[in-house]
Amino acid sequence: MGILVVGSVAFDSVKTPFGARDDILGGTATYFSIAASYFTDVSVVAVVGDDFPEEHLRFLQQRGIDLSGLERRKGKTFRWKGEYGFDLNSCTTLDTQLNVFAQFSPKLSMSHQTKEYLFLGNIDPDLQRSVLQQMSRPKLVACDTMNYWIENKRDSLAKTLSLVDLLVINDSETRQLADDPNLIRAARKILLMGPSTLVIKRGEYGVLMFSNQSIFGMPAYPIEDVLDPTGAGDSFAGGLMGYLAAAGNWSDASLRRAVVFGSVMASFNVTDFGPAHLGGLTFTEIEARYREFRKLAHFEDILEKYA
Ligand code: AMP
Repeated sequence: MGILVVGSVAFDSVKTPFGARDDILGGTATYFSIAASYFTDVSVVAVVGDDFPEEHLRFLQQRGIDLSGLERRKGKTFRWKGEYGFDLNSCTTLDTQLNVFAQFSPKLSMSHQTKEYLFLGNIDPDLQRSVLQQMSRPKLVACDTMNYWIENKRDSLAKTLSLVDLLVINDSETRQLADDPNLIRAARKILLMGPSTLVIKRGEYGVLMFSNQSIFGMPAYPIEDVLDPTGAGDSFAGGLMGYLAAAGNWSDASLRRAVVFGSVMASFNVTDFGPAHLGGLTFTEIEARYREFRKLAHFEDILEKYA
């Protein structure tokens, strides 16, 4: 069992209306692996530079994350700089420095090739497929992507999508990928591209999940003190995949629970800058919030006199 995640490990510089931090630990593989580590074994395949400090490695290892696939190269670690607007739903990327990430060409070890669950972070779709082709027989393959790849590598992305089971993207990426402003129609078109399940992240408005059998919707957890949404999408994906790997099946019921666990992990992540808070939870806290979600979305059936 266990999940293999391929993606960025980064230094993030983030500004929100509530504060700013420079060069803090970030990256898609970082947030994903921390969130998933509460549910199952996680192995990271990524690259960092020789400026990446031991304390970050220790922080990830304390969560039991396997870093044997974290390559260390001479040079600087990937850096991302972003600024969020007042409503925190819109983020402007101010700077992206690929650094050692530019030469990233993942070679999986034997033990990584046999992992049963694979999450392909939003890297170049060519690289996503090169990782997938090295795997012996994964049970479930999920992936993320971003506007840059939709605009610049659409054909390659289409090939990757034809090989994955689960696609986890945000609402604007859904519209752009399907070239359709209506989210429901867009989702239907994307399900014809390959994935049997599409999970659409909608920030503070929650999540919509589409499969051929059903549509499932979940609001986001209402939080008064959101400080920094960076990594919300990746910690969501980590909770979702982590739960599916632990459950060992992806029935409609399991997928719905997985979406809620993903939402739980994202809700913890946004209350602070960086992944420190996400990394310091207990499973009791996670379960308690899952039950809060159940209460949040519960409603009674129609009274008999109106039925
Ligand atoms: P999100 O969950 O969408 O908020 O993801 C935020 C994380 O994505 C940050 O920690 C960044 O380091 C990382 N990131 C931003 N741009 C890229 C990129 N082009 N490639 C890989 N990772 C990125």
